[in-house]
Amino acid sequence: MQVSWSFMRAYEACPYQQKLIRIDKLGPEKPDERRFIRGTAGHKVFEIWAKSSFGDGMKPEMAAKIFDTLVAQKHIGWLNPSDKEKMRNRVIAEAAMLMEAVRYHGIDRLKNLQVESWLSASLLGEHVIKGLLDVVIDGGTWLLETKMSDNQKWIDPDQLVFYGLLLTLAKNRYPSRLSFFLPVMRRVEERLLDIDFSQDDFGRINNRIQNFVDKWTAGEFPATGEGETCRWCEVKNYCIKRKPSHKNRFIFPTII
Ligand code: SF4
Repeated sequence: MQVSWSFMRAYEACPYQQKLIRIDKLGPEKPDERRFIRGTAGHKVFEIWAKSSFGDGMKPEMAAKIFDTLVAQKHIGWLNPSDKEKMRNRVIAEAAMLMEAVRYHGIDRLKNLQVESWLSASLLGEHVIKGLLDVVIDGGTWLLETKMSDNQKWIDPDQLVFYGLLLTLAKNRYPSRLSFFLPVMRRVEERLLDIDFSQDDFGRINNRIQNFVDKWTAGEFPATGEGETCRWCEVKNYCIKRKPSHKNRFIFPTII
């Protein structure tokens, strides 16, 4: 079994949803990319700019080109053509915020910086944990997770601890610093956010992964989703919670 942070989080939010999508294959063939295109474009802007050693800055036309290329690759359609223009303008504005934050926090001066590294490591011999690490500095002493979003809900320190554990297992390298980089979310001086963590947190996340693996392999799939999880659920039409219960059904009186 392969465990990513997003898979484990999605299972914890609603096990039944993950069963419908991953075992019964009832989800859409492709997720609705429109929801993610801004964040994906922002990450791509950072990746391409970082891989050119942050030379020349990120020009608006480069950010626009990255956005247009992604839209074409992912075959994204727009109900209203002006929506695409608005989204493109936001990506350009956010690329400018990213540039300001990179320069302010000196990320462009860091040496030995790896961007977008896929890592996987075995857990208990038969399971694998995996993830895409945004920025790894000095071979893993410092991990940086970039959030190109303005939604606070994506800041979860456990995600960084999960990646830190992954790095420790994959490279035998214990990170000394774990940080979020938030170019869009906060004032420029607060856009680099270190989290507090200790060895105990690695043990706690390890237990959380074990717990998830045990429940998944035991076939525990209760429908526990609520709020936003249900609102955005791509398989809600198949959900057992939406079927009318016997209790609520109206029974017509029999006429003799
Ligand atoms: S609608 Fe809600 S409870 Fe039902 S499967 Fe989706 S997330 Fe789970």
